[in-house]
Amino acid sequence: MAIEYTPARWWNPEDNNFVRCRLCPKRCRIAPDKRGYCGVRKNIGGKLFSLVYGYPAAMHNDPIEKKPLYHFLPGTRIFSIGTLGCNLGCVFCQNDSLSAYGPLENASPRYFSPAEIVDLALRHNCRSIAYTYNEPAVFAEYAADTAKLARQAGLKNVFVTNGFITREAADEIYPFIDAANFDMKGFSEDFYISMCKGTFAPVLESIRFFHSLPGKHLELTNLVIPGKNDSAELVDQYLDWVEQHLGFEIPLHFSAFHPAFEFRSAPPTPPETLYRIAAHAQQRGFKYIHLGNIR
Ligand code: SF4
Repeated sequence: MAIEYTPARWWNPEDNNFVRCRLCPKRCRIAPDKRGYCGVRKNIGGKLFSLVYGYPAAMHNDPIEKKPLYHFLPGTRIFSIGTLGCNLGCVFCQNDSLSAYGPLENASPRYFSPAEIVDLALRHNCRSIAYTYNEPAVFAEYAADTAKLARQAGLKNVFVTNGFITREAADEIYPFIDAANFDMKGFSEDFYISMCKGTFAPVLESIRFFHSLPGKHLELTNLVIPGKNDSAELVDQYLDWVEQHLGFEIPLHFSAFHPAFEFRSAPPTPPETLYRIAAHAQQRGFKYIHLGNIR
């Protein structure tokens, strides 16, 4: 059966049947029959379509602590979905089977409507739905429609995100998200440009915007890569920013890096590095520090 794609939101037509996507700060200008950088938004006949709306590539019933969220509905299950595609290009991606995908037009996945996702979450006794595994911004239409229905059904919504989204799109989506874990890749513009093929400022803006909305729960995760983002200076700049803009109550997760995808030149993060960062953050006054991925 032929796959039907869903019209995308957050774009405008340009000359010669090009389109301009406004969903994330990359703002791709996309030629006819081509996809944007994320690989899952395509210009078909001068209109932009989502290739992943309704086609999750991963779907699991997880403990909420796995997201990780340690201070939101603790001890409950969360129905988690993700699709293919990503709008950053982290060379150290720990989930590249989803973010760096094959030719999805050749796949024949089953379609899951937003209502079916909500129904599955309820049937699995989940209290919430997570938009996770890959970057949920690239399936924003699907996430937004599902989140609206989930809320009507009494479920909470969780974003596990890199924060690389335009304010325009965040304005529409974030109000339906109850809790989020934002991934802080490394606290510098240079890190985002050289390691993630993205930019830093929009991520900070998204975190601050989400935090400014009433009733939101926020946690942050930082993957600590030896020699890349683990210097005492960089960690302190990060902690300075969190202290100034978010406060000491924000739960901070520091995760160990393990060589993956295109970046294998750094060793796994020694546990001692994470213990040092945790002790320092606690000494500075941060209340909730969690370490992850230590093997
Ligand atoms: S969401 Fe995808 S197509 Fe749109 S601007 Fe970002 S990378 Fe480009």
